[in-house]
Amino acid sequence: MARVIAVANQKGGVGKTTTTVNLATALAACGKRVLIVDMDPQGNASTGLGVSAEKRSQGVYQVLIQGLALDEAESTTLVPGMDIIPSGVELSGAELELISVDNREYRMRDAIDRVRGRYDFILIDCPPALGLLTLNALVAADAVLVPLQAEFYALEGLSHLMRTIDRVQRGLNPKLSLQGVVLTMFDRRNNLCEMVAADVRGHLGDAVYQTVIPRNVRVSEAPSHGKPVLLYDMRCAGSQAYIRLAREILQREDGLAGQPAMAS
Ligand code: ADP
Ligand code: MG
Repeated sequence: MARVIAVANQKGGVGKTTTTVNLATALAACGKRVLIVDMDPQGNASTGLGVSAEKRSQGVYQVLIQGLALDEAESTTLVPGMDIIPSGVELSGAELELISVDNREYRMRDAIDRVRGRYDFILIDCPPALGLLTLNALVAADAVLVPLQAEFYALEGLSHLMRTIDRVQRGLNPKLSLQGVVLTMFDRRNNLCEMVAADVRGHLGDAVYQTVIPRNVRVSEAPSHGKPVLLYDMRCAGSQAYIRLAREILQREDGLAGQPAMAS
């Protein structure tokens, strides 16, 4: 049965989409069957993986609002073993439309429950807000993975997110837990980065992964080629970091790291 992980942080530009796409690719390279659910109306995960406009007309919006089954909305990707439920522009209206839909907080959970058996991991890329789309992801998820950019206000935003997770756990989804926090766009030459990292580790301890994702230009170039960075430049520091993150997550899940089997 798939472990469902919501990649969430209400702040934009912290590396949610980048982490979803590249962690998913690294998990697939370790032999896992992975599904990405693109819950962001901006559709960056879908475009970054080169999903065509035609395929994007069957996606998260149709699942949430029209009750389309997830397996009918799936597209394959360039990565063997990795599929995506894409998003398109209609999804930006879903936040409002969901308000008057039955079971509005449970729509994604109900859809995911029917395909859980076919995947090892389902990663949900959340929009940069704590509205009904992110709520659907948190209700569907077993755990939340938080990408955190090491900057001055990082901890403040994090405590807001933690309170939201707590509230969802007490109300809508008792099994929800914190998967972990991953520091993104990290720059070891920047003192502030190191200070914030030490602070975050001081507050959250083991919840923060040992692996940090370095700021790396290859990571930001890859989406414009419609590829995850692992397919664009397997050897760059960003690719290697996402492989390490996948191993760390797998090690924590079952004490056994998979071996990446993908050629560049
Ligand atoms: P979010 O989904 O949280 O809004 P993104 O994943 O889209 O954030 O990242 C924001 C921007 O930062 C994007 O342009 C992305 O390419 C870039 N970026 C993300 N991670 C890295 C990294 N490790 N190195 C360099 N650029 C990065
Ligand atoms: Mg994003």
